[in-house]
Amino acid sequence: MDKRLYNVNDVINFTRKDIMDNYKEYVNPGFANLIGILGLDKNYTRASGVSVWDSEGNEYLDFLGGFGALNLGHNPPEVIEAVEKVKQLPNILKSTLGKMASALAHNLAKIAPGDLNNTFFCNSGTEAVEGAIKTARIATGKTKLISCKGSFHGKTLGALSITGREKYRIPFAPLVPECYSVPYGDLAALEEALADGEAAAFIVEPIQGEGGVILPPEGYLKGARELCDKYNALLIIDEVQTGLGRTGYMFACEYEQVSPDIMCLAKSLGGGIMPIGAFITTKDVWNKAYGGIEKCLLHSSTFGENSWAMAAGIAAINSIIHKDLSKKAKENGGYFMDKLKTLIDKYKIIKDIRGRGLLIGIEFEEPAKGLLDKISKGTINKLAGEYIGAMIAGELLNTYKIITAYTLNNPNVIRLEPPLVVTREQIDRVISALEEIFEKNRGFLGITLKSAKTVLSSILSR
Ligand code: PLP
Repeated sequence: MDKRLYNVNDVINFTRKDIMDNYKEYVNPGFANLIGILGLDKNYTRASGVSVWDSEGNEYLDFLGGFGALNLGHNPPEVIEAVEKVKQLPNILKSTLGKMASALAHNLAKIAPGDLNNTFFCNSGTEAVEGAIKTARIATGKTKLISCKGSFHGKTLGALSITGREKYRIPFAPLVPECYSVPYGDLAALEEALADGEAAAFIVEPIQGEGGVILPPEGYLKGARELCDKYNALLIIDEVQTGLGRTGYMFACEYEQVSPDIMCLAKSLGGGIMPIGAFITTKDVWNKAYGGIEKCLLHSSTFGENSWAMAAGIAAINSIIHKDLSKKAKENGGYFMDKLKTLIDKYKIIKDIRGRGLLIGIEFEEPAKGLLDKISKGTINKLAGEYIGAMIAGELLNTYKIITAYTLNNPNVIRLEPPLVVTREQIDRVISALEEIFEKNRGFLGITLKSAKTVLSSILSR
């Protein structure tokens, strides 16, 4: 058996096939097949700002933005420079207090809404959520957790227990007990769930990202805040995807001037280059949960507070403020939305377009059952129904060199979530690509038939 190991130089010269073969053999064969079927397997070799280049020199526009992790774009030089500056510091040294962590926590307290003050650092969004719900339980002495249907808070066991998609939950049941869900945007249902006074917390996204870019009715967060106060439950707002300028505000909850008891952050806090997660809470909640020497280490993380990630976080926040990216997201998001809305009346394939700032979703109508569907005994329709967003994303990528993706809980929605440094010219390029796709596929039968053929031929060739 060949025991030779790759080094990084080998990997830089990998071909598309090398990547696919390794992925199929050593990583996740099912995912490799899905990406292959949808024509999304590329060999990207360089990235900067909104642009990514493949090994053939083609330039792509990234309108997926790392699911919200790239508010500053790819490889922002100011973040890389900050990390370079701390390279001589101990990166992981758990025997003392973190210099960089102390400063990032200070900066977060200065920009966070309300009385949010004390931060815990970890490495991802789901871990931030884990920390938040554990904190709510210990601080209140209660166990019940309420979340929303259609929500997405992550895939570790605790976060999954308050995530609203059965497809992800059922295979791992039983999940954490005493987790209940209510319809998003429904204050009466929330009040009913809170009314027994047993809930430790209600956790909610200000806009449901993976749920399909769903905006709640006006006043929802304010109402939720009041109900949580009335029934003595903590309000946890998950800003993992919506935070740091994305929706035209530093934090999306500022749209309704609501401040939570705990706020979760991740994604763009790492400046697009470092994994990071955090939850920030009030002094009162922190002290109830972890106050005193006995309790101060009840929750911890080895890589949390590492100097590189903290430096990236400090630089990312400063850069978002310095470049006024919240304002840019509001203005350019408005421009994008106005142009997109002109397409709704023209093309039947579009069911809805919604969003705030530069978090925008286009929902597609489910395709009607066609001839191919009859031949495939429903397979095509099932795939098309489940993956219409992915099919359009495939067309955008392969014909127009624009990167997008469908939302995790609602595959009929594609998200447009470009870096906040995107220009109007780049937005115009996406608008004309979409218009051309819709024009070519009036009634969307074209896309489904073409994609169905791709799907069928790849199924048959396996
Ligand atoms: N919370 C929200 C609102 C998210 O959108 C996500 C990921 O998309 C998460 C939590 C989980 O973050 P991660 O993938 O970093 O674990």
